[in-house]
Amino acid sequence: MQLLKPVMDSVIARNPGQAEFHQAVEEVLETIEPVVAKHPEWMKAGIVERIVEPERQIMFRVSWVDDNGNVQVNRGFRVQFNSAIGPYKGGLRFHPSVNLSIIKFLGFEQIFKNSLTTLPIGGGKGGSDFDPKGKSDREIMAFCQSFMTELSKHIGADTDVPAGDIGVGGREIGYLYGQYKRIRNEFTGVLTGKGLGWGGSLTRTEATGYGLCYFMDEALRDHGKSFKDAITVISGSGNVAIYAAQKATELGAKVVAMSDSSGYVYDPEGIDLALMKELKEVKRARISEYVKTRTNATFTVGCRGIWTIKCDIALPCATQNEIDAESADILLKNGTWAIGEGANMPSTNEAIAKYLKAGIIFGPAKAANAGGVATSALEMSQNSMRLSWTFEEVDAKLKSIMKSIYKAASDAAEEYAGDRNNLVAGANIAGFVKVANAMYAQGVAY
Ligand code: NDP
Repeated sequence: MQLLKPVMDSVIARNPGQAEFHQAVEEVLETIEPVVAKHPEWMKAGIVERIVEPERQIMFRVSWVDDNGNVQVNRGFRVQFNSAIGPYKGGLRFHPSVNLSIIKFLGFEQIFKNSLTTLPIGGGKGGSDFDPKGKSDREIMAFCQSFMTELSKHIGADTDVPAGDIGVGGREIGYLYGQYKRIRNEFTGVLTGKGLGWGGSLTRTEATGYGLCYFMDEALRDHGKSFKDAITVISGSGNVAIYAAQKATELGAKVVAMSDSSGYVYDPEGIDLALMKELKEVKRARISEYVKTRTNATFTVGCRGIWTIKCDIALPCATQNEIDAESADILLKNGTWAIGEGANMPSTNEAIAKYLKAGIIFGPAKAANAGGVATSALEMSQNSMRLSWTFEEVDAKLKSIMKSIYKAASDAAEEYAGDRNNLVAGANIAGFVKVANAMYAQGVAY
C-alpha cells in the first residue's frame, strides 16, 4: 500500500486497540488503490478519509432484570457508517465478544457488501455484549425491550433498518419489533427478518446460506467445477451454516462436518440435516448431541480442528478470524480447491493471501454472503409496497442478485487487478466505486 498508507496510519492512530476494524480497513484499502489512483478528484474530496470514519457511533447502557431479580448491565452499540446510497442497513449481533472494534469492522464491510447487492442500502451494524446463551425467554425479552427502548431513538424505516446476526434470530427480532411498535406507535419495516405473519419475507431465513451457494456455484461453473460430489466442510451450525448446508447438499455436495463454539462433528456419511435442524433450531442444543443419534459420527472438542478434515470445498460460516494462516496451510495441503465465506471476515488477511497465491476459487464474504442483506432489502421493498412475494419469486431474485454480484466482482477484478480470479479486489472495488461516486456527487461542507 502506498497512496493510501497515510489513511491507514491515521485509522490505526485514531482507533487504538481496534484490531478487527484495522484488519477490515487494511484489506479494503490495499485493493482499492488502483481505482483511487485513477480518480484524483476523489483524493481531493477526501473520499477515502471520509469512508473510514463512521457517520455516527452510538453506544448506550442496556439495563434489565434477570430471573433472580438481579439488575444486569450490558452495553449496546449502533454504528451508522455510511448512508451515501441509502438508509443504514446491517444486522445486530448479541454475543459476549461484541465491542466497538467488532461492530465497526462489521459496519465498514457492510458498506461495500450493500453496494454490491445493487440495492439502495447504506452500511451500518449494531449489537451488544449480551450473551443469549442459557437465558430464559423472559430474560431475552427483557433485554431486547431495554435495548430497543434506546435504539428506537436512532432508527426508522427510512433512516436505519437493523436485522439479525449472531445471537439475533426470529425470536429476538420479534421482541425488538414489539418494543419498537409500542414506543413509536407505527407498523413499519424498521427491522428485517420479521415473522412471516407480520411483515417478514419468505426466503429471508434461508437467504445468506442459499446466497453463498448460489455465488459459489457461479464461481465454480466459471472454473469448470461444481458442487456435485464435492466433500464439503461447513463451520457453524447457526442460520447461515444450516442453510448453506441445505443448498450445498441440494446442489450435489456431501457435507461431512459442522461445528458450534464448543467443537465440531464429523459424519463421513454426510450430515443429517433434519437432525441438525431439530437440535439447533428447535431444541437449541449443543452440537455434541448429534453423535447420540448418529453413532458413526464423531464429536471433537474445539473449533479449529474442523479445518484439518480433508475436503474439496470449505464454507466458514461461524465467526471472524476462524481460519488463520496455519489453518489455511492445512486446507491447501489437503487439496481444498474452493473456499466461500458465509461468515463475516472468517479468514485472516494472511490466510487470504495464501488462498490467492495458491490460485484456489475464493469467494470473499462481502460478495459471497451478501444474499442475506439483499433479501432484507427485498423485505423492505415488500413492506413499502404492502405486499408479499412468493418463496419462488424471492428465491429467483436472490439467485439473480448473487449472479450479478459474481459478475460485478470478477469484471472489476479483471479490469483493475488484471486477474479475474481475485474476487477480493473485485468485490472491494465494485462495492467502493458506487459509494465513492455517490459521496462525491453529494459534496462536502466547505
Ligand atoms: P448464529 O448465531 O445463527 O450462528 C452462529 C454460529 O457460529 C453458531 O453455530 C455459533 O456457535 C458459532 N459461533 C459463534 N461465535 C463463535 C465463536 N467465537 N467461535 C466459534 N463458533 C462461533 O449466527 P449467523 O449464522 O447468523 O451468523 C454467522 C456468521 O455469518 C457471522 O459472521 C455473521 O456476521 C455472518 N452473517 C450472517 C448473516 C445473516 O443473515 N444471519 C448475513 C451475513 C453474514 P454457538 O451456538 O456455540 O455460539
